[in-house]
Amino acid sequence: MGGNRRNFIKGAAFAGAALGAGEASAQAGPKTLFTPAVTTIPVVGTSDVFAVRRIYCIGRNYPAHSREMGSDPTREPPFFFQKPRDAVQNVKVGEVADHPYPTLTKNYHHEVELVAALKAGGKNIPKEKALDLVYGYTVGLDMTRRDLQQAMGKEQKPWEIGKSFDMSAPMGPLHRVEDVGHFTKGAISLAINGRVQQEADLSWMIWSVAEQIAQLSEAFELFPGDIIYSGTPDKVSPVQKGDVLLCKIEGLPDMSIRIV
Ligand code: MN
Repeated sequence: MGGNRRNFIKGAAFAGAALGAGEASAQAGPKTLFTPAVTTIPVVGTSDVFAVRRIYCIGRNYPAHSREMGSDPTREPPFFFQKPRDAVQNVKVGEVADHPYPTLTKNYHHEVELVAALKAGGKNIPKEKALDLVYGYTVGLDMTRRDLQQAMGKEQKPWEIGKSFDMSAPMGPLHRVEDVGHFTKGAISLAINGRVQQEADLSWMIWSVAEQIAQLSEAFELFPGDIIYSGTPDKVSPVQKGDVLLCKIEGLPDMSIRIV
């Protein structure tokens, strides 16, 4: 029943908002050429999908991972990078999704992370109110071309090619806060071919999700549709073609990919 057209209209309005064009674009004015596809994430328990605006990621947010990356977790303020929204790879609950080994790297790493999705935005959000902005959560992988990330870091160049490439953000469907609550503690783990590799507790984060939102909102105005990767525990490691990664966060369904 006209589903394609409705999606197109919703998509155009979203693209306009993202560009700061406001509501004017739907009525008159220039025709939009080559409208990019809207990236969406399914929402469990509804027929709705969540439209992604930006993907923010915090770096070095668990003490042991910070140390293994060569930082001092007691002194470093939080820092963030972005992935493009079309880096999302939607992974269904119960499937093992094929994930392509990317070009250019010989050291492709997994990073299992809690992902928060925002339903509201703003600037300078106090951390006490920050969780009111969260729509839901899921399990995500911040896939990383570690060799390229580290080489660029050494040369004081941007991380883009190591972190922000196509398909670098596999994630499960969103679970609404009203269904699963907030995540301030609980087990997080990643297994490769049945062997546990990363294992930690969400309470070990240096900066909580609320603090991340507060910090981000000082640097960027946040909007509905923004999602935040909240950092990975230690023991990140390389994957090979054929490996099956199983990601777990207590209170959410497992998320799994196979490197192909
Ligand atoms: Mn990460």
